[in-house]
Amino acid sequence: NTQVIFSKVPTTYPVVGEHITVKKSEFDLDAPLADGEFVLKTLVLSVDPYMRGRMRDASTKSYSPPFALNEPMTGHTVKEVVKSKSSNFKEGDFVYGMGTFEEYFKTNDHVAKLYGLVVRNDPKTNGIPISNYVGILGMPGMTAYVGLYKIGEIKAGETIYISAASGAVGQVAGQIAKAQGLRVVGSAGSDEKVAHLKAIGFDGAFNYKTEDTATKLAELCPKGIDVYFENVGGKMLEVVLTQLNKFGRIIACGMISQYNLSEGEKVGGLMQIIAKSIKFQGFIVSDFPEAEPEFLKVVTEMILNKKIQYQESHAEGIEKTPEALLDVLKGKNFGKQVVDVAKP
Ligand code: NDP
Repeated sequence: NTQVIFSKVPTTYPVVGEHITVKKSEFDLDAPLADGEFVLKTLVLSVDPYMRGRMRDASTKSYSPPFALNEPMTGHTVKEVVKSKSSNFKEGDFVYGMGTFEEYFKTNDHVAKLYGLVVRNDPKTNGIPISNYVGILGMPGMTAYVGLYKIGEIKAGETIYISAASGAVGQVAGQIAKAQGLRVVGSAGSDEKVAHLKAIGFDGAFNYKTEDTATKLAELCPKGIDVYFENVGGKMLEVVLTQLNKFGRIIACGMISQYNLSEGEKVGGLMQIIAKSIKFQGFIVSDFPEAEPEFLKVVTEMILNKKIQYQESHAEGIEKTPEALLDVLKGKNFGKQVVDVAKP
């Protein structure tokens, strides 16, 4: 049973083999089960930027709990029930939710409820790849949806700018905003990512590593920016603040440029928030569970009607998980990064 272990607290970028390690443990698939118990096999797992924040000392408080040292990491997974004495989770069911990063995991109805695991068998019949259920139809897709509608209050005719736009969250946010009638502009860290943004309908896109952000934003957002979908923070935020319109909104989704800094870089220009009455609201997607049924309905239909596309990066095999997470933190992923662990 291969496991992905959180083995040491990093101070800057984690190092594979030091802070995150892969180890093998015993798992007896033939061991008898008690009533209510079942065994899950991991099919696909999701590596996400917020995991860096969970790689911390247990004494530091934050919105998501720290990973337990020397234990398997956890995150969004799709697993399959391969053995069961539970009436809620039957053999062959696909199960979505927070799961351990290991090949096999024995659990029971009580723990499953605690972790909010749900049976999600729709990918068996609708032809949508399982990996989409940890991406566009999972937490990142929901984040885009909640950010746009619950926080950004987007309206047709407005201009939205999205940073890290080709990523797991950004590409969904951009396509939904476009379908809603906004002018959509995005930035990403490679020419390939920028070309992709244009291909999926962004009105404008640029490579923030090779082009000047302020110049490109002025050119691509001639009426200024009404809504900023903030994924990056730091210097990017500073520049965007100068180009936001009066009564602009900032959907404060994430600030990935800050996650691996040893000492926080100062973000200047925050006075702009006051001067322009900008609404800068943070949110944690898990605080909006009531939005999930509508999100799933709307976005599933968009996928099935080919009204939205979704780019993914696949790593093959659970032992590739640490590198896959580092790829996300360093921008080597192109689209939602997932790890394919096993076939159903
Ligand atoms: P992505 O798939 O977008 O992967 C991360 C991307 O961030 C990289 O590909 C890279 O893209 C970019 N990036 C990495 N380092 C830097 C840096 N130093 N400066 C600028 N950009 C960088 O990840 P997600 O879509 O999953 O997450 C996007 C953001 O949303 C993150 O900030 C994350 O924390 C946040 N988030 C917040 C949630 C919430 O509930 N509030 C839930 C989910 C995500 P590029 O090559 O374009 O630079």
